[in-house]
Amino acid sequence: MTHRNERHRVAVHPVVAYDRAVLTAVVRQIFAAYGLPARVRGGTPVLLKPNLIAPRPSADAVCTHPEVVRAVAAAVIDCGGRPCVGDSPGYAPLSRCIEKSGLKPVLDELAIGVVPFSAAASFPVPDHRLSPRIELAAALADFPVIINLPKLKTHGLMGLTLAVKNLFGCVPGIRKAGWHYRAGHRRELFARMLLDIHAAVCPALHLLDGIVGMEGDGPTRGRPVPVGLLAAAADGPALDWTVEGLLKYPETTPLIAAALDDGSLDPARITVDNHGFTAPEGPLKPARSARATARFPLHSMLRRLVVRRPRIAVSRCRRCGVCVKHCPAGAMKLVDGRVRIDYKTCIRCYCCHELCPYDAVRVGWVPGWIAAAQVEEEFDNERTDDAAGTSAGAATAVAAADAPGRAAGGGDPGAGTCNNDFGRGAHKRG
Ligand code: SF4
Ligand code: SF4
Repeated sequence: MTHRNERHRVAVHPVVAYDRAVLTAVVRQIFAAYGLPARVRGGTPVLLKPNLIAPRPSADAVCTHPEVVRAVAAAVIDCGGRPCVGDSPGYAPLSRCIEKSGLKPVLDELAIGVVPFSAAASFPVPDHRLSPRIELAAALADFPVIINLPKLKTHGLMGLTLAVKNLFGCVPGIRKAGWHYRAGHRRELFARMLLDIHAAVCPALHLLDGIVGMEGDGPTRGRPVPVGLLAAAADGPALDWTVEGLLKYPETTPLIAAALDDGSLDPARITVDNHGFTAPEGPLKPARSARATARFPLHSMLRRLVVRRPRIAVSRCRRCGVCVKHCPAGAMKLVDGRVRIDYKTCIRCYCCHELCPYDAVRVGWVPGWIAAAQVEEEFDNERTDDAAGTSAGAATAVAAADAPGRAAGGGDPGAGTCNNDFGRGAHKRG
């Protein structure tokens, strides 16, 4: 487990392209620096956890680039370990995400197996914030060494998705919706849950693909942006704090705020080994929903006055039903061939925005007194796309939009999930 007074080293490498030779050299340097060769030798099963959130090509910068996965898998094999790839994507089958992202030829060439995160098991959470145990993919228990391979992206709910957020993919399938429902729009509660997942999974190494990252409406709808960064650490919050600072992200993300608050992150104990990376000019452009929060830093106090929420761009919507199926609050329905959002029930988790394959869900802010007079809202993006999130649009009906704490379901989101005594621990640090 991670000791709170441990010192952490974060390695930051300038890497400007997915060049195989360069990646091989840098990953080997990182492996040596973090003692991986000794940990994976002798046929040790090693789980690689990339970001495979959606079936999107590598050029979209949604998923971890296949060349990064290749370099890490090859390094594991060279050290005598046996790599496998595992993840639980947002809505599509893992095999489709692997194929579409360009990872399949890499797995075939290196004879790397795939582990779907379907079954769940209960894992202990050292130094827990919310619950002493948490349900994660049962397959995690089969791997003494886990290497987390996140993608650098902006994120509508959490500001940025880096090392710690990528581990949310260790929650199998629809259980993710349960966590969104419990946390609702309370980003600080969601952040504490992510820190608990990080403590339970306890990867041996986090290696961030920030060669080309994403800005704007991440994690799936943003714009690819060259960042030129490959960063590594044995501690996820330390890596996230370092990258957030290097990129001059305009707000302290909820995850870093939660880790600083509970003492699990201490900047004084972080040493950054920068091998020559210089950040691009100007900060990453945040997601629209995160921008709204930055614009209203007292949002949590003023949430009756300012409300961020999703709405449907009707001319983009293909009625595929993905959002309806995955809405954790059951707030979305297909009615007469159109998606309706019940704002009385919506917990503003933005899963619909994240998962819509057709970019038909937008998140924006509206004044609370206007939101309180609306039950549902949609807009025609052909006419009003640029104004998305800045006006109330065409409203119908009544109801309060925001009920703080409605979604929490009590103070212990993990309570009641411990149904066996399954623990890993073999790969844990400390
Ligand atoms: S909003 Fe997106 S996810 Fe929902 S039905 Fe329309 S196209 Fe599908
Ligand atoms: S409508 Fe969208 S933001 Fe609201 S609860 Fe459902 S998935 Fe979350």
